Amino acid sequence: MILAVSLSQNLPSPADGYRGRFAPSPTGPMHAGSLVAALGSWLDARKNGGQWLLRMEDLDTPRCIPGADQLIQAQLLACGLHWDGEVTYQSKRQDLYQRALERLNTLKLIYPCSCSRQTIANTLAKRGIETPRNQEMVYPGTCLPDQLRMNPLEFSETPKTAWRIALPPNCHIGYTDLALGQQSQDLNTEVGDFVLRRSDSLFTYQLAVVVDDTEQSITHIVRGEDLLSNTARQIHLQQVLGYCTPHYRHLPLVLDEHGEKLSKQTLATQIHTQDKKHALTELRKAANHLGLKDLPDSENITIAEWLLSATRAW
Ligand code: GLU
Repeated sequence: MILAVSLSQNLPSPADGYRGRFAPSPTGPMHAGSLVAALGSWLDARKNGGQWLLRMEDLDTPRCIPGADQLIQAQLLACGLHWDGEVTYQSKRQDLYQRALERLNTLKLIYPCSCSRQTIANTLAKRGIETPRNQEMVYPGTCLPDQLRMNPLEFSETPKTAWRIALPPNCHIGYTDLALGQQSQDLNTEVGDFVLRRSDSLFTYQLAVVVDDTEQSITHIVRGEDLLSNTARQIHLQQVLGYCTPHYRHLPLVLDEHGEKLSKQTLATQIHTQDKKHALTELRKAANHLGLKDLPDSENITIAEWLLSATRAW
């Protein structure tokens, strides 16, 4: 059975209104790449008369930097990128993720896994599969039980194990990206059963993002291309949880001089937004990267005026 997505059935209808979001991880201040994602998603929302929400993805607590959330908000405001409603924090929404996990457990779609990265690498090596560094290993299914029959009691009694989703065979996900066109991924051969809750009890990005996007009624996800390879996993989760699949648009990545993606881990330089002049310069660079043409280049323009022109040009 092929589990290709039939987008026409599952996409939010125009009557739902446009709701977009920017969902940074507060692991440091914004860099040029995050501004491209923020500006692109803001412009797309405003052009469509939609809302733009701000969500701090602060689940991976060891990686979060205290105060980075405030810094990101200050940088967005300096760039005139105002959001709608309250800022949400994933760290305060654990109950929602737990409920989704329990639902998947009731559906017998998850199983506990005690494999370390080394065990997985060894199992793959025995099968002659070497995973290049920086690439995720395809889980070989070591802990997949013959029968997925955990009950809620057993579920809560396994605090030290990770929990993985059991993919059905031939789990091939196809979708249309609004920027990149037709995409597809074979989750069995390219990803394997992926983790939804880690052995240190942290919920993973894949689960939290899907729950939040649905719970916040997000209709359009506009984000960097570095997240493209996560999309099929997220669509699969939406399908099994009975959620709608939003529209996806992935934006071109900003690369450093070595051709590597900018990231806070590689200490990418933060954007300079200390005054209007610097903020406008950063916005202009981001707009240029997004391919926006003929925007006003006057020094005297306000940020709000410049953003209006950018919205028209989007
Ligand atoms: N929190 C993710 C990041 O900062 C983005 C998640 C998303 O937009 O889906 O890379």
